[in-house]
Amino acid sequence: MRLRNIAGSREVIAESTFTVKDPETKKGLWKKEVFGNSNPIRIEIGMGKGRFLMDLAELNPDINYVGIEKYSSVLLRAIQKQEQRQLPNVKFIRMDAEDIADVFAPSEVDKIYLNFSDPWPKDRHAKRRLPSREFLSRYDKILKKDGVVEFKTDNKDLFDFALEEVEPAGWTLDAVTYDLHNDPVMNEGNVMTEYEEKFSSLGNQIYKYIVSRKGSN
Ligand code: SAM
Repeated sequence: MRLRNIAGSREVIAESTFTVKDPETKKGLWKKEVFGNSNPIRIEIGMGKGRFLMDLAELNPDINYVGIEKYSSVLLRAIQKQEQRQLPNVKFIRMDAEDIADVFAPSEVDKIYLNFSDPWPKDRHAKRRLPSREFLSRYDKILKKDGVVEFKTDNKDLFDFALEEVEPAGWTLDAVTYDLHNDPVMNEGNVMTEYEEKFSSLGNQIYKYIVSRKGSN
């Protein structure tokens, strides 16, 4: 998702109390310094306009949520929503997730959500795909031992690619569905993202996996 450049969005982000500036300085300190509690931290990478994360945060006030988004114009929309909702357990970072291991310490993150990640269809761009083995190795550095990555998409090619990456990356496939909304077990408690609502309303099936490092050493 890339919205038209919105004048002043960088300034709004810089001034917002909902965004964390210089996030590298919070490495290892998120619970204590950013949220002021000892609750688990869950992050969404490629959050877009942030509704999924904020809906989850409202349902789970004892969990801290951090939304990561690369583009200011998109993050601005999330900030505007959060200004209305004022959820105490939500913060945002504007950054490229490539550098995620500079921002969170080993085991600092409890769960990672990837929702409707950009497909980067050209082979030479495979490393940029958020469920690629390169990104899984970054997640490995920040996720607690029994933590999971949950990935949803309607893009079959991207989902097939993501499934193929799991084993070579040393991860384990815990659960998978090719039709989330008609899978009573995996759909239980499902919170829809903006893209999920849009694409499922067009009749697209939603794919989801949950992966962990349970099987690895
Ligand atoms: N997750 C939202 C949803 O499901 O409605 C938004 C999906 S949108 C297709 C993907 C988002 O991921 C875009 O806003 C894009 O800017 C962001 N994104 C892609 N690559 C990223 C990266 N490396 N770091 C941070 N954000 C990224």
